[in-house]
Amino acid sequence: MRILIVEDEEKLCGILSRGLKSEGFAVDLAHDGLQGLELATSYTYDLIVLDVQLPKMTGTQLLQRLRQRDHYVPVLMLTARDAVSDKVVHFEAGADDYLTKPFSFAELLVRIKALMRRGPVQRSDSLKIADLEIDRLSRQVKRAGKRIELSPKEYALLEYLALNTGRVLSRTMIIEHVWDQSFEGLTNIVDVYVKQLRTKLDADYDKKLIKTSRGVGYTLTDEAAA
Ligand code: CA
Repeated sequence: MRILIVEDEEKLCGILSRGLKSEGFAVDLAHDGLQGLELATSYTYDLIVLDVQLPKMTGTQLLQRLRQRDHYVPVLMLTARDAVSDKVVHFEAGADDYLTKPFSFAELLVRIKALMRRGPVQRSDSLKIADLEIDRLSRQVKRAGKRIELSPKEYALLEYLALNTGRVLSRTMIIEHVWDQSFEGLTNIVDVYVKQLRTKLDADYDKKLIKTSRGVGYTLTDEAAA
């Protein structure tokens, strides 16, 4: 899951970015409205955290531009004000939720998870593929009822594959959603993580859920390999 944070307060940006990365999200940062708009229209994000008071273009203007261009990515607005009229303005501009500063990181995380669940693609609290169960609230993964321990990145990779069950995902797509813009490593990072995931998820079972499409990428599917 890839998140864009548009926030001009560097300290807050750093805290949010570190916190979200440690939760397994891929995070990109923009420090003014124009940069934010450029990133939001150039890449596919699963969610945008958007400050209202920004240099060059306000968060509200940025949001209006996005919605005018039919970008329906979930947007969580951050505002220093808490007047009811502001709330109305944000929702009218197309915000999905908003949070008044100062807020706790835990609160932000709860809101982000809630928005991602009801986002534009298939979202639900639990995902089930054959005997694999993923609880997106607690981030617990089970296979045939047996708990599987995953690192935050392994979980993020599995969740992305599971949200796109049956679809072949290229290494580039996976990197864009699970890692982030600053990631400049080798594309074989995906192969390394898929291998780790297979060891934990598929090795002990006859039915293999992660399939390789040679030269293309990977897919998580219930169906037998073609
Ligand atoms: Ca600001």
